[in-house]
Amino acid sequence: LMQLSIPLNFIGFIYREVRQGLTDIEQMFDLLDVEQEVQDRPDARPLDIERGSVRFDNVHFAYDPKRPILKGVSFEVPAGKTIAIVGPSGAGKSTLSRLLFRFYDIQSGSISVDGQDIRDVTQESLRAAMGMVPQDTVLFNDTIAYNIRYGRIAASDEEMRNAAELAQIGPFIQTLPDGYESMVGERGLKLSGGEKQRVAIARTILKAPPILILDEATSALDSATEHEIQSALDLVSRNRTTLVIAHRLSTVIGADEIIVLKDGVIAERGTHLTLLARGGLYASMWNRQREATEAEERLRRVREED
Ligand code: ADP
Ligand code: MG
Repeated sequence: LMQLSIPLNFIGFIYREVRQGLTDIEQMFDLLDVEQEVQDRPDARPLDIERGSVRFDNVHFAYDPKRPILKGVSFEVPAGKTIAIVGPSGAGKSTLSRLLFRFYDIQSGSISVDGQDIRDVTQESLRAAMGMVPQDTVLFNDTIAYNIRYGRIAASDEEMRNAAELAQIGPFIQTLPDGYESMVGERGLKLSGGEKQRVAIARTILKAPPILILDEATSALDSATEHEIQSALDLVSRNRTTLVIAHRLSTVIGADEIIVLKDGVIAERGTHLTLLARGGLYASMWNRQREATEAEERLRRVREED
């Protein structure tokens, strides 16, 4: 019984990891020697990556055949551009990112990177081309330096520190008694959500992948932290093919295209201004968020006056 319950716990742990942010999941599969759902084709080639354009073509997908999640989704992220995915929770936004990493195979349609179907290339080469900044970063029980360097193990100290500076976590690390050698994670220093996210950003800056996937944090970040994170993210995504899953619509104003996903189909698409003018789902989401922000502001002013 003991033998059974331990692996089951691990599977639960992995499942949460995958759901939360895909961090280091391949590593974990390796460690545990778990059979992966998706296998490389015997003749799989390494991905030949140029500038990393991404294309979803009439993608249909279901975790459970009885319940379709994506029902014919098509869009393109041209090389170097930023496409934002927005929409109600449960719409299938994070599923898109899992499919791009090929954690699951789709039922029909195709997903390709630089014109190559992702089912024809090795998973290792596919994942090496992509970086993910998840909503909820899990840190290793190791030093901050190790956690950042995980993005590219061979990076020099200087490169690692530069990445931390760019991710705007450098000054914070310098206030720690052991600096970059401070232990973090469950058995070390507990970092806040915003700090952990900046470690993940530093890791991704160091990895410098051609394709970037951002699942933005909604969780209680104060507005100053959110602003800092946003500028760090803007910096990483500049000139990189970027798919951003956005919860705060204020962060997608500048996207080259915004895709509104609802119940597994694209309900609307366009730029911020065209979608606002359309007066549809996006416009109502925008107005609702603006009202919420204004209410927060008013509440804060009242508190400050007290
Ligand atoms: P979003 O990111 O838009 O909130 P997700 O892509 O995470 O939505 O999920 C879309 C739907 O798929 C949800 O109904 C969710 O419950 C379901 N789902 C997500 N992951 C799994 C899974 N591993 N197995 C079965 N259903 C899942
Ligand atoms: Mg999600």
